[in-house]
Amino acid sequence: MLLEADWVLPISGPPMERGAVLVVDGTIEAVGPAAALRARHPGESVETFPGCALLPGLVNSHSHLEYSAFRGFTRARGFGSWMGRLLLARRKLDADDFAASALWGAYECARSGVTSIADTAFEGEAVVRAARAAGLRSRVYLEVFGLDDDRLPQTMARLEAGLARLQRECEGGGRDGCAGPGRGPKVEAGVSPHAPYTVSARLYREVARFARRAGLRVATHVAESRAEVDLLIRGTSAISQAYRAAHLWNGQKWSPPRSSPIRYVAAAGALGRETLVIHAVQVDADDIALLAMSEAAVAHCPRSNLRLRCGAAPAAEMMSVGVHVGLGTDSLASNENLDMFAEMRTALRVSVGRAASGARPRASKAEGVTPDEPCVSAALTPAAVLRMATLEGARALGWDHMIGSLEAGKRADIIAVALRSPESVSARARGSGPAQVDPVTELVGAATAADVRMTMVEGEVVCRGSALPAEVERAFRKVCAKLAPEG
Ligand SMILES: [Zn+2]
Repeated sequence: MLLEADWVLPISGPPMERGAVLVVDGTIEAVGPAAALRARHPGESVETFPGCALLPGLVNSHSHLEYSAFRGFTRARGFGSWMGRLLLARRKLDADDFAASALWGAYECARSGVTSIADTAFEGEAVVRAARAAGLRSRVYLEVFGLDDDRLPQTMARLEAGLARLQRECEGGGRDGCAGPGRGPKVEAGVSPHAPYTVSARLYREVARFARRAGLRVATHVAESRAEVDLLIRGTSAISQAYRAAHLWNGQKWSPPRSSPIRYVAAAGALGRETLVIHAVQVDADDIALLAMSEAAVAHCPRSNLRLRCGAAPAAEMMSVGVHVGLGTDSLASNENLDMFAEMRTALRVSVGRAASGARPRASKAEGVTPDEPCVSAALTPAAVLRMATLEGARALGWDHMIGSLEAGKRADIIAVALRSPESVSARARGSGPAQVDPVTELVGAATAADVRMTMVEGEVVCRGSALPAEVERAFRKVCAKLAPEG
């Protein structure tokens, strides 16, 4: 099948006007000028997307689809009070509710042009089923929590049993649930020690060892809020207050490590090339050096970080030292929607804001680092944030050999997105030479999830921008109704 559009954005190369992508058996066979590919493949069926750009499917590097029903749950508020409210509100939902919530989230991802997700989940199997139903490529990291080392053996046993169930679910059927393994896009399990404020150093170490032995990738929320840093340094903060309010702080024998969150995770042996560090907002120059040295990747979630008043991660600075930084929406408990175009715009805006204000990661006082050493704080470009939502996201997940760019040999995860700017449309309508438009700047500047016309995963069209299935929407609304509106 030949897909043609006004523009093809391979990401690994420059935008191509009037381009085409040849897809055969779920794989990209060729990318090039539409006229040349038509001439070379005269018998091939052709689908044209007028007024659109074709680009690689978007990679959402961090989601919690189980929490989709919490959409609109919170206005901007501090991290500690948000967490307290979430811990209490989630008790209103049961396993079926979380499954309905995840199913809606997966369909919404496909409708929004997301073809791959890296989801952290406390149950996991429902998310695997949801991702498979919607046709998404996915990695579902099973969460593990525990500050009380007396309970560590039970925690590890529960994790191993949960992972065995999750892996069985991953090995299940294709999109229709009855085909054999190997059909459809990859669906795999990972493990997620939740965060430094919920996971002891010993548990981090045990989980990291277990993951290496089992060949599993790891994701962990680190250095998200100032409250997390304060808890690790001082032993008390808005987080411990939220735990107490939810009756979850039972005098565990936990003492603060008195180090930064990144150094805490690194010292526990849990920072490596298999690790996805979610957030990395509260990081200093030493932390960034540690991330680069360990080859850990980062999931940058700028809208969630802004909403919870956590600040803005130094994404450009991390990328400048070789850290792979993908983009994520985080959950709908801390974001408005799963629109990766909105995420790209915010990433661009906060990066430009950081650069303009001269913000830079605090220089470490550690030996060998001069506190007033100049530190370049460059801003991201539209092309850079589009790469974060595609190829860099794929690299962050270790999937760049399969996806993230339109190149011969990669899996056919492709989306068509309508270009909306009137200037570009009129330029094309005039038919007078090349259009005076930069499609990358236009997409990052103006596109929304509603502009996605087609989502293809592994050569199969999983959505044509249409509404979600009525039964998925209905079940989801029932769950939303259980959650009290914000007071
Ligand atoms: Zn998260």
